[in-house]
Amino acid sequence: MRDYKHTTPTATKISGDKLPSTARFRWLIAGIVLPITILSLVLLIKSPTPVNDAGPAKAEAIAAKSQEPSPNRVSRKAVSLPNKAGTTNNLTETKSGTSKPSTPAATQIEDNGTKLVLKVRSGDNLDQLFRRNNLSINDLHKITGLSLAKQYLRVIRPGDSIEVWHKGETIVALHREIDLYESLAVTRVNDAFIAETYKNAIETRIVEKAGTIKDSLFLSASDTGIPNNVIMNMTGMFAWDVDFILDVRRGDQFVVVYEELWRDGEYIKNGKILAAEFVTQNKSHRAFLYAGPNGKESYYTADGHSVRKAFLRAPLAFSRVSSNFNPNRRHPVLNTLRAHKGVDYAAARGTPIKAAGDGKVIFRGTKGGYGNTIILSHGGNISTLYAHMQKFDKKAKNGSRVTQGQVIGYVGTSGLSTGPHLHYEYRKNGTHQNPRTVKLPQAEPLDPAFKADFDRNIADLTLRLNSQRQLLASLSEKTEQLQ
Ligand SMILES: [Zn+2]
Repeated sequence: MRDYKHTTPTATKISGDKLPSTARFRWLIAGIVLPITILSLVLLIKSPTPVNDAGPAKAEAIAAKSQEPSPNRVSRKAVSLPNKAGTTNNLTETKSGTSKPSTPAATQIEDNGTKLVLKVRSGDNLDQLFRRNNLSINDLHKITGLSLAKQYLRVIRPGDSIEVWHKGETIVALHREIDLYESLAVTRVNDAFIAETYKNAIETRIVEKAGTIKDSLFLSASDTGIPNNVIMNMTGMFAWDVDFILDVRRGDQFVVVYEELWRDGEYIKNGKILAAEFVTQNKSHRAFLYAGPNGKESYYTADGHSVRKAFLRAPLAFSRVSSNFNPNRRHPVLNTLRAHKGVDYAAARGTPIKAAGDGKVIFRGTKGGYGNTIILSHGGNISTLYAHMQKFDKKAKNGSRVTQGQVIGYVGTSGLSTGPHLHYEYRKNGTHQNPRTVKLPQAEPLDPAFKADFDRNIADLTLRLNSQRQLLASLSEKTEQLQ
């Protein structure tokens, strides 16, 4: 039909330009042209939308336009989808379940109707949201009747947004972000709807940043543009090697190689730390992310040992202590093994205290000058003691097993104490040792079968750490020359 109409004017033109000389031909031409002209006139009158006359070229142009963001879709009148059949097929396939198209059907649908972003307000449910925006409740019922749509639309929270494409009250499509990585797409097909999920286009960028500690770790990190949560996670990676509360000094250095997640050219958030280095007291600690034998990602040292050890260096969350930590200032309550065979951590009342290692609670109660105290027994004839607590954690009952990092109590100033702090002791075979320096056995190394793969994986990350260290070294040389 389209081709027919297209060729008609051309045929007419040719007949005018190159009119054959004989009368026979005139009649012949008239015989052909007249019926065609009449037929096309009839067709033109019957067809109310000249848009449909566009032909393939225009349809392509529209399809191309739909790729670019267009704030005023309203102005573009409803144009029938150039490849509705294809879309439908696509959707029918995805209905069966597992297949997740990387390009959502909606990129084609988007032109079909007006886009509206529904903002969920406090106390809203979908019904109210649809009524407020004059959208079909009947369509809503059809949509929530689909199990996939029901699953991902059941819970809506204030601040959430749901995108709909509609023609009047009729819903053409509905999209909702499930999480950062996946979205729900509901698409109208005739009188019904089809629901599918698709992957969001997330771009991962790897960034590397380094710094030297001048004041606090957090301040120095933010000076170099490292977000707080990244530096927080870095302290977690080295929690078995470095006591970030007491050991960090001015001049210590850190390098972090981590992911940034971007979407549509917009920064979303930080991803994982792929590698990090912390240099304190001239000792370098490096850790690399690697999916080991069980496929679970974990951090390993450069020689392939897990960074995890039997004991944390400091049984307090660094984040909760950092606010009053300054390496240039002495702690109000500090030290020393000499004084009372333990380590004192000044911290705010109520700061959670963690079990330094897996173990069993062998004492929980009041113990003279120690005040509220917990003693844990660990393997290898090692025990740890935590004193002056404000209160115990409910789960850390006498005789119960605790895991490393589990909160067992909260910082206080019970017993003989000059202010809120944790008094921490580490004993092996009954003898006090300095928990910050005691040699801890290394975890089992990676299975040798994985070592080559591990080495390949960390090669690039090692180069990145090295180059950042060099950069820091050249910066500090320059600083020295200036001084
Ligand atoms: Zn003490």
